[in-house]
Amino acid sequence: MARRSNRESGKGRDAEAGTFFDEQVLARLRRNLVRWFHKHGRDLPWRRSRDAYRIWVSEIMLQQTTVVAVVPYFERFLARFPTIHSLAQAREHDVLRLWEGLGYYSRARNLRLAAKQVVAESSGTLPHELSELIRLPGIGRYTAGAIASLAYDRPAPIVEANTLRVYARLLAFDGDVHSTAGRNVIWNFAERAVPRRSAGVFNQALMDLGAMICTPVEPRCPECPVRSCCRAFRDGVKRDIPRPRTRPQPTFVNDAMIAVRKDGRYLLRRSPPGERWAGLWEFLRISLGEGKLQKNGDDRRAKSSSQLHALSASTVRQIEQAVAERSGLMADAQPHAFEFHHTVTRFRIRLLCVIAEYQSGAVKPQDNFRWVTLKQFGKLALSMPARKFADQLTASAELSAARDSAEAARDR
Ligand code: SF4
Repeated sequence: MARRSNRESGKGRDAEAGTFFDEQVLARLRRNLVRWFHKHGRDLPWRRSRDAYRIWVSEIMLQQTTVVAVVPYFERFLARFPTIHSLAQAREHDVLRLWEGLGYYSRARNLRLAAKQVVAESSGTLPHELSELIRLPGIGRYTAGAIASLAYDRPAPIVEANTLRVYARLLAFDGDVHSTAGRNVIWNFAERAVPRRSAGVFNQALMDLGAMICTPVEPRCPECPVRSCCRAFRDGVKRDIPRPRTRPQPTFVNDAMIAVRKDGRYLLRRSPPGERWAGLWEFLRISLGEGKLQKNGDDRRAKSSSQLHALSASTVRQIEQAVAERSGLMADAQPHAFEFHHTVTRFRIRLLCVIAEYQSGAVKPQDNFRWVTLKQFGKLALSMPARKFADQLTASAELSAARDSAEAARDR
């Protein structure tokens, strides 16, 4: 007779999992996992001490970001802000500059705010209790569990991307792990699974198993130390779990980013609180509308960002008008643009980067504008697209300087 799926069997699922994972199986799961971890666990910079501050910074950086991407950021951040006190005293701008490129900048702002709070309330010692950790800006259930277990060895469970997948497979849970009900099933199991002692080692082992063995696409079950405790392995459904997430259709967006240039300096604006890049510097930016391709005669999608692309007369007019409305400046937009592509959540953004030569007018200081030289770009915290454009402007300037000196040498 065909086996009924967990989704179909409703309540029976929890009961069956409860029977399967009796204390004996849970003890074996913990033992095998920890033994494997001591042999194969990853050597990561934030694991070299039990310092709660280092663990906290790493966990915030790791949200939405891979370990490989985080390591250099973590090392730079700790070199600059080695203690919670140094972070609490830092200017927001300096923290954002070090975070530049990691994305999700509210994480950096909250990290600094929480550091200030901890220094003010408890002389810089991060709380041990989950309930107190969760009160701090930017710390949710997962991060609180990670700090409490990894730094203080409290028996706190954690559920992040890797552990969510491993737990779902151990349980053979084929419901939606991202729904509230699905999350509750996983968290409840995590509460049962985490040991009373050495919870930090167990949690790290589980994360490593998810990253190295129980991987999203092709889990390596024959090498898995906990396969004897895994219901997905037993039932031969490991590839179907977790159930894939239905993602919304992408929306294609066309924007223009405009560098107004005056006497070798460029106009930047600091994004105010509430905007996407709050606290970071941006060039003027306008929307040219939605849709996969421009219908107004602009060049089609660029093959390379270093190529220049012709703009239609109507796009040039639209850009000049927007510059006047946003900044009060009159400027002549060049009829060509660099093109970049990037993705933010469901938005696929085509960004035309245009230089506009200043003609007349003055910006109001209260509007957070600033004229900066190419050299000053390196000192400011820029949004990711603004950094790409700034790098392109710097590269173009260096190229034309090299050409000028080659021509001058020829003429001599
Ligand atoms: Fe994952 Fe396979 Fe191990 Fe189960 S046996 S936890 S599916 S790697």
